[in-house]
Order: sequence, then C-alpha cells, then structure tokens
Amino acid sequence: MSNFIIKILLLFILGAINISSVKADMNDPLQSRINPGIVAKLFPLAESLGAPTGTPPYIPVYGTDDNVTIDETVLAKWRIEFLQVEAREPTDEETKAKIDSLKKSQFGFNTETGLKKEIGFLFSTYETTKAKGYSGDHFDIIVGLKADGRLAGSVIVELHEPMICPTCVPQTKLTALHETFIGANINRRVNLNSGTGGGRGYDGVTGATISATLTTNGIITAAKKILRQTGLGANEGPFYLDVDSFEEHSWPDLVNWKAVVGKTFTREEIRKELDPQNEDYLKNPEKKFTSIYTGLANPASVGKNIFGGKWYSYHVSQLATGDNLLVVLGSGLYSWKKNQYNRVTLVQKDKKWKFTQDEALKTTALRIKEKPNLSQIGLLRIPKEWGFNPLEKWELEFTVDEKLTKGIFSLSYDLPKQLITGDPVALEDAGLRPIKTAFLGLVRESKLNGWQSEWAQQDYSIIFLLFLLIILTLLLIFQKKLSANKKIHSYVRLGFLTIILTWMGWIAQAQLSIVNIISYAQALIQGKGFIQFLFEPLMCIIFVYTIVSLILLGRGVFCGWLCPFGALQEILFKFGRFVKLPQINIPYWLNERLWVLKYLILMLIASTIIIGHDSSYALIEIEPFKTAITSYFDRSLPYIIYAGILLIIALFTERFFCRFMCPLGAVLSFLGRFHIFDMIPRRPECGSPCHLCESSCPVQAIAPSGKINMNECFQCLDCEVEYYNDSRCPPLIFEKKSTLQALKNN
Ligand code: SF4
Ligand code: SF4
Repeated sequence: MSNFIIKILLLFILGAINISSVKADMNDPLQSRINPGIVAKLFPLAESLGAPTGTPPYIPVYGTDDNVTIDETVLAKWRIEFLQVEAREPTDEETKAKIDSLKKSQFGFNTETGLKKEIGFLFSTYETTKAKGYSGDHFDIIVGLKADGRLAGSVIVELHEPMICPTCVPQTKLTALHETFIGANINRRVNLNSGTGGGRGYDGVTGATISATLTTNGIITAAKKILRQTGLGANEGPFYLDVDSFEEHSWPDLVNWKAVVGKTFTREEIRKELDPQNEDYLKNPEKKFTSIYTGLANPASVGKNIFGGKWYSYHVSQLATGDNLLVVLGSGLYSWKKNQYNRVTLVQKDKKWKFTQDEALKTTALRIKEKPNLSQIGLLRIPKEWGFNPLEKWELEFTVDEKLTKGIFSLSYDLPKQLITGDPVALEDAGLRPIKTAFLGLVRESKLNGWQSEWAQQDYSIIFLLFLLIILTLLLIFQKKLSANKKIHSYVRLGFLTIILTWMGWIAQAQLSIVNIISYAQALIQGKGFIQFLFEPLMCIIFVYTIVSLILLGRGVFCGWLCPFGALQEILFKFGRFVKLPQINIPYWLNERLWVLKYLILMLIASTIIIGHDSSYALIEIEPFKTAITSYFDRSLPYIIYAGILLIIALFTERFFCRFMCPLGAVLSFLGRFHIFDMIPRRPECGSPCHLCESSCPVQAIAPSGKINMNECFQCLDCEVEYYNDSRCPPLIFEKKSTLQALKNN
C-alpha cells in the first residue's frame, strides 16, 4: 500500500514540477500590455504615447510637464478661498490636484497644433532586465520614469511568486512597498532598504521579503538601464548632494549638525566688525542687530524638517533639475531682503553670484520642531547654470548699508558629510562614511553585490546557524555518548529544540516549508537558476544541510532537530507530560495507516499545482508554519484556530501533525528512504522478546517486530537512551549479571 502511494507520488511530483509553469503573456508586445489605466496611474498628465523605440523597448509619454512653473499667486488665492469655504487647510492630495490642474492649463498642450513634450517613458522589467522572482519565473512590472530621471511608479502586470497570494502576502502589500520608491532619483544610488520615505517598507511584506527585494531591484535596475539608453543619465561624479534621504531633526539639531549655520550680532559687534569708527552704534550696544542663518534646503533632511513635508515638496517642485535651494532666515534691525535681495551674494572659491528678485521663491512658514524666532524667511534658487558646487565650501555675504554703518559680513558653510552621498566604495575611501565590514571584518560590505550583501547583513545569524549545525553534527556523531546519560540527553535535546523554535523560527524566520521545496525543485527541473534563492542565506544553508543529512541518515535530522514547528510540538508534548496531562497512544495498526495521510495531502497539493488551480495556495495552508512561526499568530481567526487545534493535540500526543499531516515531512521521508547509514543500533532481542525501545519511541516509529521505520524516525535518540541503559535494557541487564556472576565464580 505504502509503496503504491510512493510511486503515484513520484509521478505527481514530477508532473507538478514540469507542468506548473504558467505560459505568460508577457511575451506579447510591450504596447499591448500597457493599458490606459496604467498610463493614467503612472502619468496622470499624459496626453499621448509614442511608438515603442530602442532595444530593450520603451515607450515615450507626451503630455504636460510636471516641472511647468505655476502662477503662485493663483495657488495662494485658491488656498485662501479654500480656507474660507472649508474652514481647514487643503490636504496634500487636494493641493496636488490643484497644482496639476494649474500646470495643465498653463502648459498649453494642443494636440491639434502638435505641441508635445516628452514627460517620461514606460517600459517593462521583463524586456529590460529579464529579472526573475523567487519562483525563478520572470515577472512583468510596467515602470514609469519621468524625463528628469525620477521614478513615476510601477504597476505589476504579471507575477508568479509562491508567497504572494491572497492568503499569503497579498500583492497590495508588495505594491505599497514599490510605491515608497516613487520619486526616487534613478540617476543616483537608490537605497533599496528604505524607499524614498526613509522607512523600512519591507516590514509590510514579512514572509515574502525575497520576492519584495527581487521585484524592487528589478524596477530600479530596469529604470537605470532605460535612463542610460535615453541619454538622460546624468554624468555626475562619484559624490553628490543627498537630497532624498530623510531624517527627522529639530532646529537645534540642524544647527548642531551644521546643516544650517548662523550668528547673532549685537550693535556693538557689528560696529566693530564693519565700521569700528562709528561711535553712534554704542547708544544701545547690547541691542540685537541681526540673527541670521543659512543652509541648503533641497536635501530633504533639511528642507522637509524646516517647512514640513507638504510645503517642502511644493518648494522643490519649483526647482529645475540641477538647481539648488538656499534658505536664509533672519530677525532683528537689519533687513537682508531689502532692495530685491541684492544685498546677498553667494561666494565660492573665486566666483561670486549676486541674487536678485528672479531667484527669490515664495516662502511658507517654519514648521520645524523647537522653531526659532526668525521672521525674515527667504528661499533663493541657485540656478544650475551658475556652476555652483554644493559639495564645496561657500560663503553668503550680506551687504550692510545702514545709516550708522556700512560693510559686509558673511556666514561660512561647509556641507556636513552626512549630506554627501554617492558610490559607497568611494564614500568609504574618501573617509565620508565609516568602512562597514561583515563576517568579523573579513569582508567589506560596500564591495558586495545583491545577494552577497544579504549574506553580509545576516553575518551574525549565519555564524550562529553554522555553530548550531556543527553542534548538531557532533551530537549525531557522538550520539552514543549523548544517549548514555538520560538526563544530559533530555536537557541537551530540550535546550536545542528551544533554540530552534525561538531563534531559528520566531527570530530568524528560517522555517523551511513545502513552498521552498516546490520552488527549488522547479528551478532544478526547469533550469531557472538558483541565484534568487541565495537572497535567503539561512534557508540556503538549512536546505543544503538537510539534503546532505537526507542522503546520509534520512528525514529524521531535519524533522527531529531543525524544524521550528516540529520543535514547538515536541516542547508542548513534553510540557503536557510534565503537568501530567493524559497521553494518547494511537494503536500501532492505526498509526501505520495514518502515516499514508501525509502522502495523500502532498499528492493533493501536487495535483492542484499540475492543473494550475488556485486552491493550491489554500492547500499549502495545511502547513501551519506561517501562522505559528513566521506570523507569530497574527493572522485571521480561522488560521489561528487551525494552528491552535494542532498545538492542543500536540499536548496529548507527540507530533500528530508531523506524523500524519505534514506535506514537507512527506517529501522528506520519501526522499530519505534512499539514505546510506542507519545509525540507530538494534539487538537481536529488539522486538522479540523485548519491546522496551518500541514503547519508548514517542512517535511510534518502531514496529512491534522491533524494526525501525526510518521514514518515520525523528532521530530523537530516546530509544538509544534505553538501548544503552544497563539497568533497563534486558539484554544488557542479563549481560551485566552474567559478567558479575563470572567474576564471582572466578
Ligand atoms: S514533519 Fe513537518 S512539521 Fe514535523 S518536523 Fe518535519 S517538516 Fe517539521
Ligand atoms: S525513539 Fe523512535 S524516533 Fe526516536 S530515534 Fe528511536 S526510533 Fe527514532
């Protein structure tokens, strides 16, 4: 019966592996996969699309330019009217909609006269990078790139990822993660861990982080490729001003950090500095002449803190690509804004640029925490054409031409190194960032590629996992020594399983699942490559160790020692026994028949994958690993009830799920039947007449005949503890007595 099931199972697994690949329509031409909904989402101001061009292909988008300067007085009037009518500030969306409509009306797009402006490009990750997901299949994500090199957004058109499904991680969470990269400057290094929002967007996709990493990487890499292809890629040096990263700072933080620099001058100080002869200034010498501060405001960590998110976006939207934004804040007797800003001069090396009204932008109120009392707020655009280098030192000179004194005073600014970004290796080499190393200083992180970085980031976890595997290998090699002492054996086993459950399962999230096995098998049979799996270092190591242990010893090494859910059940059973809950012993004949159930479940999963039925996702939920281990029971009620029932059963009977229901256990015990070594020792007396080991086996893997079914053995070594116990194992007791008798007789 069992052999028959195994043969059928083999056919099903091979079938599932070969047939499950879905024929994608991503091979259709690019233009036929981009529908109006996608265009409207990525380019709301689009008017028409061009023909696909280039290899790989991209489609130009024509329409209203986002960078069209709007009439600010119209926007201000609208805001005041809005406040009066609605008695509240307009929301971000409402302001954006208004700005969009103003831009549209001012751009003057006219399809009849053929006035067109290229505002961006549409292309797919599929043709551009041929990127693959965790499943090893290509995915088709349509990406929008604006003409200024910033990401307009992305839309998933086709994706086949095992952990992205309505009952696993919904695709909406992946989309939400991709949206955090909208606005990212593709000309520059994009930090894949943070998105443009600066937060860890990956938190929302726990359980599918590899799919999230690979798809995000695909989007950014495709955008970089198209940017180069269109000739719009900026040829900046290795370093540039970091305008995208954001960290929250109060005003004193910004001052301490020297992101804004400033001074307060009394009348006496300014007299001494500018016109030492002028005694009139001594009338009120301690009275403030001016407090004045300046800094670059286009880096989000500065401008967004000073003006708040909404108005910061508004201010930087008025800059052309390559412009910088200067903020000047003052208070006191002196007015630096007087005479249309011509009192302010920017100085860098031997160059001087005098500001005029043309560079002045409309300002908004200060919204920074611990706001200073500075009423003269100014924003000055530094045009790209001036050739100003934000990375080099500069000075802002203020001309004073008052009744009592004349002259020039200045503020010096040296960009804090935290605001410089660029190629990570170059940044470290130049001393702008500390050199980050991994694996106890052996590897320099900045020199690693995508999957290597994952290994570096998890270096301590990898080292700890390898340590655990070495310990386990030693325990298995010296199992006779371990089994010789019942107490030591039970403490070591309980301790090890506790680490597997808490650290490997709940903390490191390294629970091998049937989903992984299906993905690995598909990659192997269909030749999809294995690079994508390297993004999960712990899983890779556990998988390789499991394969080797399967070949050598069978299923028991993984199931008995390395499965977090298996460990959870065993710990619960031990707890149940400790608090004297009744233990349910299933009769051997029934136990033997129930073993078949897990193979049937595996066949059912395989058959739904073969026919491409959606129920395969639901069937995979037979594994309660996601609920009990990776999601910490934070799921909807039916999943919690199901996992809870299995764990309650585990209190009364050892590893019910493992023995009878687990599809992963079924695969492992099927593959493990071809193992090389049988390490559990037997004696001729085992089974006849002695049944001690049989009754000690918690999972009933020992038949009444004394033979161990290695497909069901979990290598727990409980039977070996009895086997080596010369006070309990009858043949050993007899041998000991005979030896004593022989000694007596001599
Ligand atoms: S049978 Fe399944 S749940 Fe049990 S230890 Fe093996 S893999 Fe884990
Ligand atoms: S007690 Fe059972 S499961 Fe444990 S090692 Fe012995 S035969 Fe295997």
